[in-house]
Parts: sequence; structure tokens; C-alpha cells
Amino acid sequence: MMENDTDDDQFDSIYANEETTELINVKERLQSYSLEELLKEDREKVKEKEKEKQYYHGRITRDVAEDILKKELGKVGNKDGLFLVRESSFSCSSFVLSLYSKGVFYHFQINMVKPCHFSIDEGPTIHGLDRLIQNYHEHAQGLPTHLTVFSKCKTPPDDQRHSGATNLLHRAVLENIPDIVEKIVKSKFCPPVNAKSDWGTTALHDACYYGFEDCADIVVRNGADVNALDKDGQTALHKCCKGNKAGIISILINEGQADVNMRNPKSGWTPMHQAAYKGHLECIKILLDFHSPYFARADDGVTPLDLTENYEHKHCFDELDKFEPSNIVTHKKDWFHPEIDRVGAQKILELKGLREGLFLVRSSKKNPDWQVLTLCHEQKVFNYQIKTKHYRDRLVYYIDDGPYYKQLDHVIQYYSYHANGLPCVLRLSVNPAMELIQISKDDEYFNLQESNHQQFPMLSTPALPPRPDDMTPRPPSAGDAEYSQSVKRTSQQQARTPPTSPKLKTPPPPPNHPPPQPPAASRLSVVELKRIDFKSLKRGKEIGQGEFGSVEKGVYTYKNDKGKKEKTEVAIKVFHKTSINNQEDFLKEARTMQQLKHECIVNFIGISETDNHELLLVEEFIEKGSMLDYLLDHHDKINKDNLYLWAAQIALGMTYLEQQKMVHRDLAARNILLQNEKRAKISDFGLSRAVGSNSDYYKATTGGRWPIKWYAPECVNYGHFSHASDVWSFGITLWEMFSFGESPYGDMKGIEVIQFIEEGKRLDKPEKCPVVAYQQMLQCWEKEPKKRPSFKMLNSHFTEESEYACVRDIMKSYR
Ligand code: ADP
Ligand code: MG
Repeated sequence: MMENDTDDDQFDSIYANEETTELINVKERLQSYSLEELLKEDREKVKEKEKEKQYYHGRITRDVAEDILKKELGKVGNKDGLFLVRESSFSCSSFVLSLYSKGVFYHFQINMVKPCHFSIDEGPTIHGLDRLIQNYHEHAQGLPTHLTVFSKCKTPPDDQRHSGATNLLHRAVLENIPDIVEKIVKSKFCPPVNAKSDWGTTALHDACYYGFEDCADIVVRNGADVNALDKDGQTALHKCCKGNKAGIISILINEGQADVNMRNPKSGWTPMHQAAYKGHLECIKILLDFHSPYFARADDGVTPLDLTENYEHKHCFDELDKFEPSNIVTHKKDWFHPEIDRVGAQKILELKGLREGLFLVRSSKKNPDWQVLTLCHEQKVFNYQIKTKHYRDRLVYYIDDGPYYKQLDHVIQYYSYHANGLPCVLRLSVNPAMELIQISKDDEYFNLQESNHQQFPMLSTPALPPRPDDMTPRPPSAGDAEYSQSVKRTSQQQARTPPTSPKLKTPPPPPNHPPPQPPAASRLSVVELKRIDFKSLKRGKEIGQGEFGSVEKGVYTYKNDKGKKEKTEVAIKVFHKTSINNQEDFLKEARTMQQLKHECIVNFIGISETDNHELLLVEEFIEKGSMLDYLLDHHDKINKDNLYLWAAQIALGMTYLEQQKMVHRDLAARNILLQNEKRAKISDFGLSRAVGSNSDYYKATTGGRWPIKWYAPECVNYGHFSHASDVWSFGITLWEMFSFGESPYGDMKGIEVIQFIEEGKRLDKPEKCPVVAYQQMLQCWEKEPKKRPSFKMLNSHFTEESEYACVRDIMKSYR
């Protein structure tokens, strides 16, 4: 809990440092030099200090990166560990390390684990790209070699760094000389306003911490990023709250549109937490004026009120404890419909044209104390549970992991100011008399909130699982079977992407940007996800442990069309909610799975939730279980014809998935299930995307299995999954089949496999594999995706070839 307070002393010591003190006296030096001279000299000094960090090449493709490295190799004499860093060409919030070692070029995805925190593969999570690279300079830590020299270009982006080099702007701000600061920011030699100092802060952070109001105002007006994080994960607002500079808070919010909900990625603390921890009453008051939640919750659930008590700030405790918002403009009568249900709510909103931000509140069927917020966004209806609980002897209301509120009205008012996890702010309600009521008065403010929201296309990127050296991000909290959405927190989301000032919009990706995957929801028309009451499921013994959770056998009791009770055997995939990075994506994916019906794919039945924070995915029970186990256990019983038949069936199922525009991403023998010797079915389609685990390249799964061995090179290199990459995986699956369940590439590590493939090598023909079947595999493993056969061709191959007569007969029965 003390982590927020580490930099005070360090700051003072740098300030007092002899060399810095001499340099820092901007005012004095201006008596002998012109500002322009000083700025030019400063620029050279910074450049010199930063010359070891000029490894960043911006957004270039992998091929360009290799060309650059090749050229550089000529100059440095094939130096092992030559590298550069570039922006990932398929995701604007991640980077790639391109590295040369022993004749091979590697491209490692640098994942943004949380705002400004990065990791490669299973390596440590490190704050700042600069410190990440520094780390790999010192140790190889899983890379083929440690980093040595780089191809020179520019320094990594300011907002992705831990620290930088103190410049003249930092110094002028620290000397609190606003007129000079003004001149500096107007000069064409001005250093970047958001550059970080030696001690990891921007000029704005310093101005805020020391309360230099005029300087803060100037930098904010000149493009300072109000939501930038310093090396302790604090924004300018956090700094004000830490330094007790209440006066600047309103500048940041009014002029810079600073986000009062922005959390410190290291702890989840909002600025209010910071103020409460320090006992800074003025800051608390002003934050309350700006609708900052009085009971915000940090990663560990701690609220500012808890902090004021723990640190004995009685006056602050009283302020927060007794706080009643004075300007509540919205009341139950405007939006509360106690009698209606989910369908009724949907109907009312449809009647009112599904206008953006239109909402109502109804009672929850599940729990009489709970309410449901039903909200329109982009012509769709979303439901959010408003729960209640006892917190410090009072009842509080909250949505998901959002702030606690003493009144339902307060919750509604809060979300009319801040989307903070909802898809949009609450704008307009419909009352029981069916009249529309305008809730938001300040439309400009709302537009801003929303444009902020849209500015970050990667918001729903699933976060990686927490790393050992991290403060663990809060797991998503429990939802309710009745609800189709879970709240995402805007502040966390925003913070997950490069913090950018609303004024400085992220440029759109260049036209050659590889096309992103189509969103799951757009693939098929949206249907209601089938929810199963968990009481109608009888859970039996565990039948498997998979990559994503355990699998149980069960019995599902349901009413058939005639209203008669029936029972059917089911397989139940059990996910603990905390293992799902983004429940919304998960449910979206489940909805897609539900719509896929084919004899060669496993039938999805529905989804259920338990009281125990588990999400259950219910599907048809497939008698003989996974093909991989079957191959291993019944080696002697399986003949060539079985394998051809299964291959044809898998290709047929995949053709269907392709027609439905669904990319499997995890096609492997373990994900093919056998009903009997004559029927194979594809399972787990879409699941890897829904759970998010396979989207992280160079990363072993928990089971020690490397999905990378099933990945096509473009998946590894560009994260580009497609039907053609599924074809590659199909080739690997064929290889598993014809080798009777052997592990592809033996015990080679993921990285060795990548190198092996890069060198143009491929898996050998399994001993008992017919040459024609091996030829199919080789075609699936064409480097160029376009050259690979389609599933349709593969299906015809395994069906039509005369050699496979028996298959043809069986396959005919499917048409
Ligand atoms: P993985 O694919 O990572 O091995 P899964 O979670 O998909 O793990 O499945 C684990 C095991 O559970 C499978 O190997 C299989 O034996 C069994 N299983 C999964 N789904 C079904 C199902 N629908 N019917 C019968 N058994 C299943
Ligand atoms: Mg599976």
C-alpha cells in the first residue's frame, strides 16, 4: 500500500545533485545565453544521453525490419544480438522486437500486459519499453541471445517509457518560471512536451506535484497528455492529490479533460485514493465536485474511505463517509420500472427507437434486492446488473467492479457522467408513463467521453494473465445468468492503450495494415444466447482437464417441443470466471458457437453460470472423447481408412466453419472428438479467441503444450489468423493422426520450431503415412497462405481419391 510514495526522496536528491543543480538554473543561464541557444544545446545533450535508446523504428513491416537488419549486419559484421524495436503492424498497442542470431531473424511480440507494462513470452513484466530492452541487454532470458547492438533510428515513444532524459522544459517547470515555460513551448526548439525526465515524470507531473499552477496551465494548453503515467503509474491528477495541490485539479479536468477515474495500473488507485491516503481534504472535496466516485474500489477492493480510516485522517473520513451529492438531478420516477422483465424492457426501448444512451432500470428476477440497468448502444440492448451489498453497515449499490454508491440515484447519476465500463454514458431515460427524460445536460462533455472511448480500438483486448512481479489485476467479478454483458472499466481500458491526450488522436493505421479479424458478432446474425439454469444440470465426474479448464460429464434435463421432460448426456466445460479475460467476448463467441450446426462439429447446447463464479459451457457429449487419446490408446485398432474418413470429416466441418466465416485458431487432434470409429467432430472452435489464451505468441500454455506448433508462420509473426492458417493447423492435425498421436516436433521448444519452419524445413513423413497423405500435409504447410489448399479441396481429396472408396460411401450420406 505504500508503493505510491516511493519517489519523494529520490526526487529531492536528484534535484540537489551537483551537476543537475548547475544545469538546472535556467533563469541564471538566461542572463548569458539566449533561450534559443540554451534549447539547442539542451537538445544536443538530451540526444547524447539518449543515444543508447535509438532502437525504435516506428511502424515498419517485418520484411522491412529484416532488410534494415541485413544492411546493418554488413556494417557490424554479422553481430549476434543485433536488434530493433518496431510497432506491431497489426495491433496499435503492441510492439515487436526484431532480432538477429546465428543466421536467423526472429520477431518477438512485445505484449502490453497493462498500461505501459510489457513482457515478451513468459519473461518478466517490466514497466516501460526502455527498461524492457535494457533488461534483455543484460540477460537473454529465453531469447536466443541477449541484445547487443541496434540499428539506429529514434527513441521509443514517450508514453511507452519508464523514464527519459531531463530537458530544459522540465527544469524551467521545476524552477517555476511560467514566462520562460511559455516561451519554451512556443519555440520551435521546444522538446516534446510529454518527454519523461531522468526520474520518470513529464513536465506536467512535476508542475502538479509541486503545485506550479501557471506552469501546469501552460503545458496543458500546449498538448501535455493529462492522462500520461509517470514511473509510479500516476497521472497528473494523482500527483496533485499526492502533493495536495487542489488548485490544479480543476485545470486538469476543465482544460485537459483529465479522467478522474483513471487508475494507477500498479494498484488500481484512483486519484481519490491517493488523496485519501495522504489525508488531503481539499483535493477530496474538489474531486467530489467533479463527480469522482466517493467509494471507488482499487484492485484489492479498498476504497478511499478505507484508506482514510487506516491512515487515521479523521476529517477526510468524515467528508467521504457523510458525503451526499447535492446535485442529484435524476430520480427513480424517471427510469424505474419495477414490474417489467427483460423482454418487456427490450420492447420499451425498441418502441423508443433504441436511441443512443437510452435506458431504464427494472427489478432483478434473480434477487429482489437487485436491479437491472437496460441500456441502448448502437441500436443494441445491453443489460447490467446493479447489485447491492453491505459495506460498513450500510447498503451500497454497484455495477460489476465499479464504485459503490449509497443510493440507486447516485449510480445512475454517476454513469450519466462517466461511461466507465458501460458502452456509453446514460443520456436519456424512459419513465413508466413512457415519456423520454433527458438525463445528461452537458452534451459536450459526453461527446468527449464517448469519443475517448472510440479512440481506443484495442480496448477489449484480453489482458494477459497476471505475472508474478505484477500487482495482480482485479479479476472480473461475478455476473448473473440473466445478463448478457459484463462491465468493462473505461479507466483500465484506456490505460491499457497508449495514454493519449484527447487532443492528440492516434493516427489511423496505414493502408497496408493487415486486415483485423472480423468481429465475432458480425459473422452471424445476433441471436439470444441460450442460458441454462444450472439447476437443470446434473454434474458428474470430471472427464478431462484442458487448456482452458476442466470438463465434466453431466445430464441436462429439458422440456422438448411437446413440453415433455427429457434428459440428455452432456459435456460441461467449466471455466472459472477469473480465467476469462473478457466475459463479453466470451459470451459473444458462445453466441456464435450456438448458431453453428453441422454433423462434423460438436453441437453447442448453451451456457450456464453457477453461484460459485463458474461459467459452464454445455455441449453434446461425445462418447469416445478426444481423437488424440483415441489415437494413443487404440493404435492397433485404427486403420488407414479410419484416418481418411476422419480427415474428410474434419475438412468438411472446417469447410462449413469457413462458410460461416469462423476461424477456428486451435485445430489440433486434441480438439477433434470421436463419437465412434466412423464419426469425428470438431470442437473448441472460437474458444481460443474467447478465452484469449492463444492470442499471445511465443507463450506456452499452462499445460506446457505449445499451440505455436500448430500455428502457421503468419500467426506467429503477424498474429494473422485466417482460414488458410487453419489449413496449416489441419496439416499438423493430419500429421498427428498418421503418426498415431505423436507430439509434433518432438520436444523442440516453440522458438526452435519457429526457426525450423523459417529455414524451410517441415515435419517428416510419419512412418505409416501414405505418400499421398503426406503430400497433402506439405501443401497445407506452404509458407504462402494463398498456395495452401482450401478445406473444400482437402475434403474432396480425402473423399474422392479412388483409394479411399469406403470414405466416399460414408461421406455421401452427409450430402
Ligand atoms: P484440450 O482440448 O485442451 O485437451 P478440452 O478442455 O477441450 O481440453 O477437453 C479436455 C478433455 O475432455 C478432452 O480431451 C476430451 O477427452 C474431453 N471432452 C471435451 N469435450 C468433450 C465432449 N463434448 N464430449 C466428451 N468428452 C469431451
Ligand atoms: Mg479442446
